[in-house]
Amino acid sequence: MPESSSTQTSHDAHGRYAEPSSVDDFRRNLAAVQARIAAACHRAGRDPQMVRLLPVSKTKSEASLRLAYAAGCRMLGENKVQEALGKWEAMQDLADLQWSVIGHLQTNKVKLVARFASEFQALDSLRVAEALDRRLQAEGRSLDIFVQVNTSGETSKYGLAPEQVSGFIQDLPAFTALRVRGLMTLALFSSDVERVRQCFMLLRGLRDRLRESAPAGVNLDELSMGMSGDFEIAVEEGASVVRVGQALFGARPMPDSHYWPGEPSTENHRR
Ligand SMILES: *Cc1c(COP(=O)(O)O)cnc(C)c1O
Repeated sequence: MPESSSTQTSHDAHGRYAEPSSVDDFRRNLAAVQARIAAACHRAGRDPQMVRLLPVSKTKSEASLRLAYAAGCRMLGENKVQEALGKWEAMQDLADLQWSVIGHLQTNKVKLVARFASEFQALDSLRVAEALDRRLQAEGRSLDIFVQVNTSGETSKYGLAPEQVSGFIQDLPAFTALRVRGLMTLALFSSDVERVRQCFMLLRGLRDRLRESAPAGVNLDELSMGMSGDFEIAVEEGASVVRVGQALFGARPMPDSHYWPGEPSTENHRR
């Protein structure tokens, strides 16, 4: 894709996304990703305003997160609760910075999420829903929720099987502190674009079908899908939220298998 030099993400000597070292660097990365989102929207006849870019700051330093804030980001995605909580505590001075937890949650970490997060994108069990709701009620808070769906069929991935989602959402209105917004998925880690696309199409098709039978109070408008390696495909297939880490914050030093125990792929990102 042709890109003008002012909106190009910089790469290091190995062709990996370089880590921004100034607010201008970060702004440039942001503009480059936004331009790619806009181009994908254009191809699909969609309005770019309908796609929210969620910057994913996992493994990155507080200094990097502050660059993102200075560049205008007001919500950051983190996949590990402990790490997110530590960053939240360290950045209390940024009162309007919100946190989205995008990784699998164990019941024993629920009370931490209820304390600081604004959004949780990886709900896939009623036990967690119930525990979250109880803690949120106690804190007088509520949380935006995405139900995670395993669209790739890989056993290493969290999320409900597509056929379980219909039954699952019927039980969610009981948890009044959870504001269900939509569905979330991670596509297959593959360089096969069509197989990746299938995952996004599956999520969208599922959402379109479930919308008709969703109980009152369960909103399925949002589709959170697409990461640095595949967000343009996701946007073409209807994503309303893309979760982008490396294209904004630079490559992570270790392959994703390091951050996602059980993830068989050692591929860091697709090109
Ligand atoms: C890390 C992560 C992302 C972003 O991945 P990048 O390759 O850094 O863009 C998106 N979603 C989830 C659930 C993640 O853990």
